[in-house]
Amino acid sequence: MTITVKTFERLADAAGALSSERGARFLGGGTLVMRAVNEADPSIQTIIRSTDPGLYHVTLSSGRIELGAGVTMAAILAERELAFLHPVARAVGGPAVREAATVGGNLFAPSPYGDFAAALLALDAMVMFAGGFGQRELALEEFLSRRDRNASLVSAVAFKRPASDAFRFAKVTRVHPKGVSVLSIAAQLPASGGRVSGARIAYGAMAQTPVRAKTAERALEGRSLDAAGIAPALATAADGTSPVDDAIASAWWRREILPVYLRRLLLNETHA
Ligand SMILES: Cc1cc2nc3c(=O)[nH]c(=O)nc-3n(C[C@H](O)[C@H](O)[C@H](O)COP(=O)(O)OP(=O)(O)OC[C@H]3O[C@@H](n4cnc5c(N)ncnc54)[C@H](O)[C@@H]3O)c2cc1C
Repeated sequence: MTITVKTFERLADAAGALSSERGARFLGGGTLVMRAVNEADPSIQTIIRSTDPGLYHVTLSSGRIELGAGVTMAAILAERELAFLHPVARAVGGPAVREAATVGGNLFAPSPYGDFAAALLALDAMVMFAGGFGQRELALEEFLSRRDRNASLVSAVAFKRPASDAFRFAKVTRVHPKGVSVLSIAAQLPASGGRVSGARIAYGAMAQTPVRAKTAERALEGRSLDAAGIAPALATAADGTSPVDDAIASAWWRREILPVYLRRLLLNETHA
């Protein structure tokens, strides 16, 4: 089957084509799209590309960070101001994948992929869309909940810079250094007077999309990050998750090890 490739200078035009053409797929870094094309995925009839520089910006201003959807994991690793995100970007595949893999593509990557999206969820990120009609901005959590029905072109993500040392990330994998996630955990743990205030915890590979651990977040409120303080959060760590059995791990195993790695993350015992 022939696949048509359409390249647009303006993101808005690419967005129009994406939403109006059946069988159209936007090309980010192509690490997943091109695999699907090579496997002759019949649902892909048109590839939409854009050369708009707006896709590649990194804007850091007064506590707010905006990343163009086309920013790659390698570009994040090259930006010192984004050092808190380096462990996340470094956890996505090997060097060749990171050169191509984009922030935008990670939002659509099927589980157990989506490590960067899990981090963005813990950062309370907003998703911005290019062109088209309707809402131009959506909370990432809502975006993920309707991802499969989405034919919108993501232009960027934006979030507040977390307080210094408040952001943590861990990825559990069987194959080091670049294996796919058994699960990943991202947490933003702001503290006031030694007590957690407004925690955000998100998991990758614990459901069809990255998910928030809302029960555990509530259980951490007002607690200190020591063994006694985090015990209620660990007891409810798997609430709201629905992991699957796949080639990487069983759902049972994912649930079993989740509290073990959440404990290490909350006690800051590892950055693995
Ligand atoms: C060997 C290998 C290892 C990998 N390891 C990991 C890993 O450890 N962790 C991980 O999270 N992922 C991993 N991945 C998956 C993937 O590389 C990443 O998730 C990557 O971030 C996807 O981005 P991309 O730009 O390559 O997406 P693409 O392949 O370009 O696109 C993926 C999907 O997103 C859509 N899309 C892309 N950009 C946009 C946009 N701006 N707006 C709307 N739709 C868009 C595409 O249409 C497509 O449906 C791996 C992949 C491979 C092949």
